[in-house]
Parts: sequence; C-alpha cells; structure tokens
Amino acid sequence: TKAHIAAVEKGRALNAYVLETPEHALKQAAASDERIAKGEAGPLEGLPLGIKDLFATQGVRTTACSKILGNFVPSYESTVSSQLWRDGAVMLGKLNNDEFAMGSSNETSAFGNVVNPWRRSGSNVGAGQGGAVEGNHLVPGGSSGGSATAVAADLCLAATATDTGGSIRQPAAFTGTVGIKPTYGRCSRWGIVAFASSLDQAGPIGKSVRDCAVMLRSMAGHDPKDTTCVDTPVPDYEYAVGRSVKGMKIGIPREYRLEGLNPEIDALWQKGIEWLKAAGAEIVEISLPHTKYALPAYYIVAPAEASSNLARYDGVRYGLREQGKDIVEMYEKTRAAGFGAEVKRRIMIGTYVLSAGYYDAYYLRAQKVRTLIKRDFETVYADGIDAVLTPATPSAAFGIGEKGSADPVEMYLNDIFTVTVNMAGLPGIAVPAGLDSQGLPLGLQLIGRPFDEETLFSLGEVIE
Ligand code: GLN
Repeated sequence: TKAHIAAVEKGRALNAYVLETPEHALKQAAASDERIAKGEAGPLEGLPLGIKDLFATQGVRTTACSKILGNFVPSYESTVSSQLWRDGAVMLGKLNNDEFAMGSSNETSAFGNVVNPWRRSGSNVGAGQGGAVEGNHLVPGGSSGGSATAVAADLCLAATATDTGGSIRQPAAFTGTVGIKPTYGRCSRWGIVAFASSLDQAGPIGKSVRDCAVMLRSMAGHDPKDTTCVDTPVPDYEYAVGRSVKGMKIGIPREYRLEGLNPEIDALWQKGIEWLKAAGAEIVEISLPHTKYALPAYYIVAPAEASSNLARYDGVRYGLREQGKDIVEMYEKTRAAGFGAEVKRRIMIGTYVLSAGYYDAYYLRAQKVRTLIKRDFETVYADGIDAVLTPATPSAAFGIGEKGSADPVEMYLNDIFTVTVNMAGLPGIAVPAGLDSQGLPLGLQLIGRPFDEETLFSLGEVIE
C-alpha cells in the first residue's frame, strides 16, 4: 500500500485520481495486517485498488466528476465497493471519469482530461514507476479513463469501473488492460451514480484476465437493494482462467466487418481467430442482422434514461446550489452551472425523445430495436455458439482534443462495437491483443451468453 501511495503521487500528471485517500488506505492496510496475523485473510486481502468516482464511498467525496455534486460526501457505501472491503481490499482513492460516465475519452470530466500512459513510440511511461509525463498526448478512452490509466500506469493493482455502452471495454482496449462488463444483473447497481439504469453495470479493469476474474468474484452477487440484481450463485471465476477452450464454438459476426474498417484492426481480428483455432475452438461465421441499428438506438435509450435520472439534481438535495430569486430560478441556475456541455446535450436529447408526440417515433422504436438486437444474439446462442469475437474499438487511442469537438457523433462512433452488448444485457470482455504500427495497444472483444462470464475468462486468457 505504501509503494502504491508513492506511485499515485509520482503519477499525478496523468490526472487519473480526482481524490487520493492515503490515510484511509493506511488504516485499511493496518487492519488487513491484523487479519493476516490472525489467519483470517480474505480473497483480496491487502490489495490496493482505485475506485471510479461513480461509486458512492462512505465518508469519502463522490462526485461522478460533475460540478453539480460539488463536495457531496455519501453517508453510505455502494454494494460493490463494500464487497471489496469485506474481502480485504484497500482503497487508494477515487478515479477520474467522464461526467456522469457520459463520454468515450474522459474529456467531459469536471476534473479535466486523463492522460493515457501509452505513447506512439510503443512505450508505456509507467508514471507510477517514475516515468516522465509531459504534454497532453492521448486519451485513455472513457468513461472509465481514470480506472484504465491507473491500472496501466501502476497507480493501483486493479480498479472498479462501470459500463453503460462500452465504458469498461473501450478504455481497457486503449490502455492495454483487461476489462469485463458482466451480464446485466450480475453486480448490484446500488450506490452507483445512475446514468442509464437499464444499461449500467459495474465491472473491473485489471492488468490480466486472471486479475479481472478475482475482482469480479468479489464485486458480483445478489443484493436485495437492487431489484434488477439477479439471485444466482457467483462462480469462483478464477478456475475458468486457463481452462481448455477445446470444442468451444466462436461466432464471427459478418456485420462487424464494417466498410472501411481499419486494416490493422481487421488483421488483429484474424490473428485472434487463429489463436482460438490453435487452442481447439471452432470458428463459425454468424449473422447479427440488427447490428447497424444498435448505435442510433443506444443514443436514444441512454439519453432518455439519463434525462430521467438527472432530474434529481436540482440544488435542493445534493451538492451545488446557486442562488435565485425563487425556487425555479434556483433550479435553473444550479443546473446551468452544475452540468457540463455533454450532459446538457444528453438531457436535451433524452427529454425530446420522451416527450409527447415523439415518444412513439423515437423512444418506443428504439426499445423495439433493442429487442431485435437481443434476439439476434439469442438466435446464435440457440444454435450452439458459446461466444462472439469482435474488435473492441474501431481505432487505437486518439489525441486529446482530436475528436468530437465539432461533431459529437464523431465521438459516439467509438462505441460502435460495444453498445450492442449493453443493449442485449450480455457479458463482454476486452482483452489486449497486440500493438498497432504506431505502437499503441489494440483490444479484441468477446461477447458471452447471459451469466456465462466463465467462458469469456477462458477464451480471454487464450487471446491475452
Ligand atoms: N461512450 C458511451 C456514452 O457516452 C458509453 C459510456 C458508458 O459506457 N458509460 O454514452
């Protein structure tokens, strides 16, 4: 823990942490030592972790990286983080993310952008190990950019993250780390700041498939405080890492072979196919015909739910409050000052698609498309497919300030391979598969059957 506290300090230029909690960490570590001495060590005993600032942490400022939450200090702990502490882990601090997890580059955070430790030279500056960081360089992806950077730069052993449309898998792919979004309902959402409640899931970002398996085992599990959290046993995922994948059937969806797909990503995808074949898996071409509608439908459903969830930030109950001559003006001024531009855009889109006269044309239609996307997967799984292999992202990490400033859709296109998984509620893992010709990490994604994260860990280990 002491070594990691020092690393976090050395790596400050990356802006991965929005709050460091060294005293809290040392206290937890001391308690850990006592449990170890008594022979009562838990599965994560003494392991220093970073926590995305979307998870409520009791007595520790939680802002979702939005000004509107100000200096909000929760009086409660999210279920997922409380399970990590139950199992002996130590919290180094709170990690940067896009404001309310809305973004794909961590540039919408009220705390500023996060720097990816990877350089185009093919090196990772390893800031925690004393590597030099100057300039702005590349984004780490988002929204869990702080989590991905902290893991990649050795500023923690593993981190919590959340994924509504790719926010675990895309930043993992951009930083050469592993990230898994479990099946919807696997982890409790209780105490996690809500973005789009029917899509949000927590999951880990780690340095390896095995680390993610160990983390997820502690993070997952039934919680009566979240009615969508499923009461099904959590397997000891670690056994699945290194298990044979012989005879598993892997689907390659032809709709993901986009026109103009970056040839380096296509080549890596082919390599992934070869690795899985060599390990004894069977490769089958499949069709997921509604794939092309996933991104537009996601960017209706997610803002709709976001606009509803964000209605609670009115200056009365949480964080920031601006003064107004009456309560309506107070609401208006608080929300105008508290929300960033991307969040305001989502609120406006969401309110529009939910409003009378447009609800049927947009929101209802998007929900129907969502059902079709889910059925596409059900059909291939019913045909015996065990998992689906796709690229994780359409590009490697891009430069800070390079995308989305003129046209937000340019940024949304980053999520083209990841959003289907949330729309269908399925588990998905991003695994580093190689470096591109500029020396930047690229990831592949495996999508599994509902509640079959084990298969993803087994296949992910082959790719890694
Ligand atoms: N990039 C997507 C969005 O901005 C997904 C974000 C997420 O998964 N939290 O909505």
